[in-house]
Amino acid sequence: GTWSAADDAELLERRAHSFATVQEHYFEEPPRVERGWRHHLVDTRGRVYLDMLNNVTVLGHGHPALSDAVHRQWRRLNTNSRFHYASVVELSERLARTLPDGLDTVFLVNSGSEAVDLALRLAWATTGRRDVVAVEEAYHGWTYASDAVSTSIADNPGALASRPPWVHTVAAPNSYRGRHRGAEARRYGPEAAERIAQLAARGTPPAAFLCEPFYGNAGGMPLPDGYLEQVYAATRAVGGLCLADEVQVGYGRLGTHFWGFEQQGVVPDVVTVAKAMGNGHPLGAVITRREIAEAYRSQGYFFSSAGGSPVSSVVGLAVLDALRDEGLQANARDVGGHLKNRLLELAHRHGLIGAVHGSGLYLGVEFVRDRTTLEPATEETAAICERLRELGVIMQPTSDRQCVLKIKPPLCLTRDGADGFVAALDDVLTHGW
Ligand code: PMP
Repeated sequence: GTWSAADDAELLERRAHSFATVQEHYFEEPPRVERGWRHHLVDTRGRVYLDMLNNVTVLGHGHPALSDAVHRQWRRLNTNSRFHYASVVELSERLARTLPDGLDTVFLVNSGSEAVDLALRLAWATTGRRDVVAVEEAYHGWTYASDAVSTSIADNPGALASRPPWVHTVAAPNSYRGRHRGAEARRYGPEAAERIAQLAARGTPPAAFLCEPFYGNAGGMPLPDGYLEQVYAATRAVGGLCLADEVQVGYGRLGTHFWGFEQQGVVPDVVTVAKAMGNGHPLGAVITRREIAEAYRSQGYFFSSAGGSPVSSVVGLAVLDALRDEGLQANARDVGGHLKNRLLELAHRHGLIGAVHGSGLYLGVEFVRDRTTLEPATEETAAICERLRELGVIMQPTSDRQCVLKIKPPLCLTRDGADGFVAALDDVLTHGW
């Protein structure tokens, strides 16, 4: 039919009346996006946007091989994993092969929240304990357990005050603006280790320590060198399990490694993955050791109606095939490296850029009003994102201070796409927002 701005505005009104508004939308005046192709989105005016935000869509939008695989499988069969079929076995084997020896046992679920929830339940069942240590400024999901360990005040302003008593937090290991900066960031590990030892000494040893192995939610910050080695050792010394939430940063996005924990040279006991795993199809997994998975039996059996269904399993396999065949981890490393260098160049010319964080295609540009006080440029960041949208770039803020550009595009991003983003950002920072 013919496009009309009034129709798009009316649809937004209907959204406000039918779809709970606590499920917010991006942008004050959101473009109505009905199509996508690779790292682009297309609105109903026919305007093409550079999508620098959709990390879930790791292969890019409208991926033909994935779409064909889903279509074929839907016509053939969809059922649940209590039936015997090949794809669920193949996906489980393929996932285990991406991980170090011992992490060989797979649960398939439908989202990151479910994966984190299950990882916590496995830790509780294995250790017979309840207490968990999480890191500040983290987001892990919306279910009861995954929300309990989500400490980010950007997602929930009351988060730190309203955690259940079994949740304990340690400082966000932020080497840019945390309590310990630069080389001093090496102190975060021993401090967290000390906290874990204290919890054990007072009679509440943790069932688990949980964090993102590369700080996605804080804006794509690497953990300080040795952090996970120190904290995992302290956790294991008191009989707890080490949980790595790879929902955002795993699956090749960091460029140098497939999994975030590999950058820290450690091996977790339980890994959670989702988002990229399904390229947007609801898919998540928990991968762990056989004996940890077996401990769940004390809670009954585990079943998820759509987790590991033939359609979901085929999606998972098609995504892994495309990641491999299209060399997307290497592309994340190459295009991400180029993009980071270009952003660092911008930082020489624009005082608002306090730092450029990140690895591969998980980058963060942190805006500050003053490079000494690091006063966060929160309002500026929101305005810059609105202006970038006017210039045809989809971008949003992250971190507890909402002053970091969350750069995590589909991994098929090209150099031209990266350069287009830098040109738009340069324009906004030069001419104002
Ligand atoms: N863990 C992390 C690190 C996440 O970023 C998210 C989602 N933003 C989740 C878990 C929850 O995943 P989902 O939205 O698929 O439930």
